[in-house]
Amino acid sequence: MAYFLGIDLGTSAVKCILVDDHGKVKASRSEEYPLLQPHPGWAEQHPEDWWQATSRCIRALLELSGVDGGEVAGVGLSGQMHGSVFLDADRTVVRPALLWCDQRTSRQCEWIERTVGPEKLGELTGNKALTGFTAPKAVWLREEEPENYRRTAHLLLPKDYVRLQLTGAFGMDMADASGTLLLDVAGRRWSREVVEKLGLPMEWLPPLYESNEVAGQLTGEAAARTGLREGTPVVAGGGDQACGAVGVGVVKPGIASVALGTSGVVFVHDETYEPDPERRLHAFCHGVPGKWHRMGVMLAAGGSLQWWKNHFAYEELQLAARDNRDVYEYLTELAAEAPIGSEGLVFLPYLTGERTPHPDPEARGGFIGLNLRHTKAHLTRAVMEGITFGLRDSLELMKESSVEITELRVNGGGARSRFWRQMIADVFGYPVVTVNSTDGPAYGAAVMAASGVLKRDVSELCEEWIQVVDRVEPNPDHQARYEPYYAVYRSLYPILKDSFHRLTGLARQA
Ligand code: ADP
Repeated sequence: MAYFLGIDLGTSAVKCILVDDHGKVKASRSEEYPLLQPHPGWAEQHPEDWWQATSRCIRALLELSGVDGGEVAGVGLSGQMHGSVFLDADRTVVRPALLWCDQRTSRQCEWIERTVGPEKLGELTGNKALTGFTAPKAVWLREEEPENYRRTAHLLLPKDYVRLQLTGAFGMDMADASGTLLLDVAGRRWSREVVEKLGLPMEWLPPLYESNEVAGQLTGEAAARTGLREGTPVVAGGGDQACGAVGVGVVKPGIASVALGTSGVVFVHDETYEPDPERRLHAFCHGVPGKWHRMGVMLAAGGSLQWWKNHFAYEELQLAARDNRDVYEYLTELAAEAPIGSEGLVFLPYLTGERTPHPDPEARGGFIGLNLRHTKAHLTRAVMEGITFGLRDSLELMKESSVEITELRVNGGGARSRFWRQMIADVFGYPVVTVNSTDGPAYGAAVMAASGVLKRDVSELCEEWIQVVDRVEPNPDHQARYEPYYAVYRSLYPILKDSFHRLTGLARQA
């Protein structure tokens, strides 16, 4: 039996899975590493920690599964996006990597927008300069740590550093490279124009690959450390969003996904490059060779319900502990007691600011329409409805293009609830399905490895390996009842924006 190893280098841990050549998961394992926050708003990690954890994790996974390293026919990598790994000419790490969630580069983002011009930047890179992206981090290094900048000879993304350790080869896939702000996303090549305007060295940038292309072979040293066989092919892989989408089969036109985790992501496959003219959605290369995708990101999706649970679900937490059940099951049962629209109550889920469709770090949450009849059931339902409305905002932007969506694949913690899946189907007006693969980006990375090694289409493999296990149709009566509430939801942010900004200002002074 041949196996494929999928590695997902997350923010708190690396997850490794072994998938057999029929797409079945044989075993999985993860290893944690620390997140460094040396100043408020900064987020860093030591690339060496990633490699140590990954090599340990692979070795332990092989032992646990009883699979011999020689049976692993290929390796695929997925990982946290946007992080910057600065290496010197000897491949030594220059300083800890700045991560996707690091917020220190606001000034550099403004400079990039001014220097390249918002229209040009949007046209070439499909995106806005956001603090999490890679290019602003490189500009920050030049301004704030010139000595480190001078020493730097290579710039990599997190998972590509791990591949360098596995194979000794530099490389990056186009899907993950789209999140650097240095890629010509339509042309699937580095944008010399952007790189030169920003004054960054072209030589820093590694060769580019499609996600399923073999980008190196395992070195003897890495083989000895991990238990894999020397020479095992390692494909380029992709960022965790692209790999997560491949992992649930979002690889052809008409299929979109909704990832309902702590944050929320609405993701659609595109046959052609379709950047949002106002750059409210991200437009990236997909992990499917020669294709693209767009996505909208909601910062506090499941995170809003988690906040509600943490602070206001004392009874449900007690019951869950008593019955050894998931507290979210009690909360969703409670929400189901209230009617659609929570009797005139709308929740705004911008608890940590928002990204899509309102790129505003100072947006805030709220319950609007409270009256004396409202109980905890109404408020709980309103939280879930508000999150769902916020996710629909991203889909509405996607519908402004030519893409016709026929099915939504829902994954992440929130997808466990059938009640929530029905709510999504009713609010979005599309069938909502769940699939048998639940290992997220690590599974997508294994699909990429199998595609590259077996020389099979990514979409063909997804079709064969990933099956729909549940389907919820929108209920036309519910749809009609949600619609006016969604209209109210959409109208609220513009009205409240100034108040939110004033309140965040006041909170800062407090
Ligand atoms: P992360 O994005 O941090 O990896 P998950 O994908 O597990 O996390 O999503 C966690 C979120 O999913 C929780 O904050 C909660 O909002 C939601 N969730 C988890 N379990 C359930 C459930 N049974 N019903 C409804 N929502 C749930």
